[in-house]
Amino acid sequence: MPASPRDLYDVLGVERNASAEDLKRAYRRLAMEYHPDRNSGADAAERFKEINRAYEVLSDAEKRGAYDRFGHAGVDATGGPAGFDGFAFEGFGDIFDAFFGGARGGGRRRRGPARGGDLRARVRLTFEEAAFGAEKQLEYERREHCEECGGSGAAPGSQPETCAECKGAGEIRRAQQSVFGQFVNVSACPRCAGEGRVVSNPCGTCRGRGAVRRTRQISVAIPAGADDGLQIRLTGEGEAGDRGGQPGNLYVLLAVEPHELFERIEDHLLYDLPLNVAQAALGARLSIPTLEGEMEFEIPAGTQSGDEFVVRGQGVQVLNGNRRGDMIVRAAVVVPETLSEAQRGLLEQLAETLGTPSLPRRRKSFLERLRDAVAG
Ligand SMILES: [Zn+2]
Ligand SMILES: [Zn+2]
Repeated sequence: MPASPRDLYDVLGVERNASAEDLKRAYRRLAMEYHPDRNSGADAAERFKEINRAYEVLSDAEKRGAYDRFGHAGVDATGGPAGFDGFAFEGFGDIFDAFFGGARGGGRRRRGPARGGDLRARVRLTFEEAAFGAEKQLEYERREHCEECGGSGAAPGSQPETCAECKGAGEIRRAQQSVFGQFVNVSACPRCAGEGRVVSNPCGTCRGRGAVRRTRQISVAIPAGADDGLQIRLTGEGEAGDRGGQPGNLYVLLAVEPHELFERIEDHLLYDLPLNVAQAALGARLSIPTLEGEMEFEIPAGTQSGDEFVVRGQGVQVLNGNRRGDMIVRAAVVVPETLSEAQRGLLEQLAETLGTPSLPRRRKSFLERLRDAVAG
């Protein structure tokens, strides 16, 4: 392992502006050349790791961008100092298999106990729960380690044994001749299914699987400002791994019910305020709903339908922030559909004096301004 890792573009032998296709081609060629099953050279395995690492970063637009800007520091940050050395060689079997369609024998290489699967769940929230945050109980079924056998699958008092067929390697290697020379065909051991161990005296509770299905209840903390479609990752709450493997994650998808009065636009609330013709013309002081209750609100004389008023800080909490969005009060002038005799008389008098109006000047609505802001 070099003291400082090589430039990833150099590793793949491509220019810095290489296209995704160029990268793929270079990776494919080098991976074929240095794959340990095909190349027994002293540093082939090291080169193969390096090639995989380079491709893993450069084939991912986000990681490639970080690498271009910050170099190795930009992509190794999460892995800590061990990020490069600690990179799991076998983990890239998937990339390799995807490219070469099982050139490795299609088998599961022995790569330590497999990580448990990820699970997905959906949580329904009221509008207020999403706005203010909530603690929701969630019940789901998952695979858990069998307590009876400690997850080994072997009956208490016994141990899994090393597979006699593959001597614990989990794979069968066969040398084959081809026109390109000899290569080694690797396939998963059929007896132990690639695990390297067999259970001859299975645990009665889990029938040797090492895991059982169990219903689990957990409490999910919904952060204030959560919105419909937000996904929360609960690390390690997914399915148990195989015999000591890492558990998977649980992804909780939020579905937020609409509010009967408010429409949510990011962190803002839109409220349509019904006004009668007199209130709109004369102005009025009235009570309007908020997320927490009610508040006094004054509309000016001459308010038109569609006019918008911004009430600062009466919106929804900004997710992971300590500020709230605004409430947009949009005037909706409602013309009476039925009139009493007296009302009719008054309106007829008004009609004579008002004459025919010209259209009020049209202002951009909040929604339009928001769209403009987003479009930049
Ligand atoms: Zn075996
Ligand atoms: Zn068991």
